[in-house]
Order: sequence, then structure tokens, then C-alpha cells
Amino acid sequence: MSKDCIFCKIVEGEIPSKKVYEDDMVLAFHDITPVAPVHVLIIPKKHISSILDIDESDAENYIAKIHLAAKKIAKDLGIAENGFRLVNNCGDAGGQTVYHIHYHLLGGRNLSWPPG
Ligand code: C5P
Repeated sequence: MSKDCIFCKIVEGEIPSKKVYEDDMVLAFHDITPVAPVHVLIIPKKHISSILDIDESDAENYIAKIHLAAKKIAKDLGIAENGFRLVNNCGDAGGQTVYHIHYHLLGGRNLSWPPG
């Protein structure tokens, strides 16, 4: 846990969230400012700042689990069939504002490409 990290505080239950999925490694909750009918954030319970900080073990464990969670949540929330997007913003120019790695699961509408 990183003491000033808002997502670590959500993992610890110090800040409330609307959880949609949880296991031993991963937590997923509705984004507070949704940009699509379904907008869920999937995060590792371990504090990892960004993709630039992932090591081999993180990739095999946390990041793999995040993808499995995305599949389950997409099915559970009814966006798997029509399609969805799993997005990671990395760094300031990439649009990252919270430096605890997270993946946006977006669906429920047609998503344009390329993103802005
Ligand atoms: O990729 P980026 O770092 O910009 O995404 C951070 C996301 O975290 C935003 O979509 C924001 O709405 C969300 N957020 C949240 N709950 C908080 C703080 C931020 O859902 N307490």
C-alpha cells in the first residue's frame, strides 16, 4: 500500500467504492465519472504506479488476473456480446491522472476510434 494513493485507500476500504468484482489480487469498481454506460476500473490490490513499473511477476499475476476479471465483468454486465474496450492510460501525455495502475473497462455504446 502507498499511503497517499487514492486507489490503495479504495482497496483498504478507507474510501468507499461501488465494487463489481473482487478476488485476492484484483478489485473492480464503477468509475465515479463514467464516460460510457458501463465504465468500470480494474486495479491490482498491489500498488503499481503504471505500466512502466510492472515486473515479470506482476505481469504473470496481477496483469493476467486483470484480463480474466475484465472478461468476467464484461459478461456479467452484459457488454461482452456487443463489444467493449479495455484501456490503460500511461503517463501524463497518455492521460493518466491516478498513479496506481488501472484499466478502464468501457462498454454499452459504440466507441469511436481513434480516441482523443
Ligand atoms: O486513466 P486515468 O488515471 O485518467 O483515470 C482515473 C480514473 O479514476 C478517472 O476516470 C476517474 O473518474 C476515476 N476515479 C474514480 N474514483 C476516485 C478517483 C478517480 O473512479 N475516487
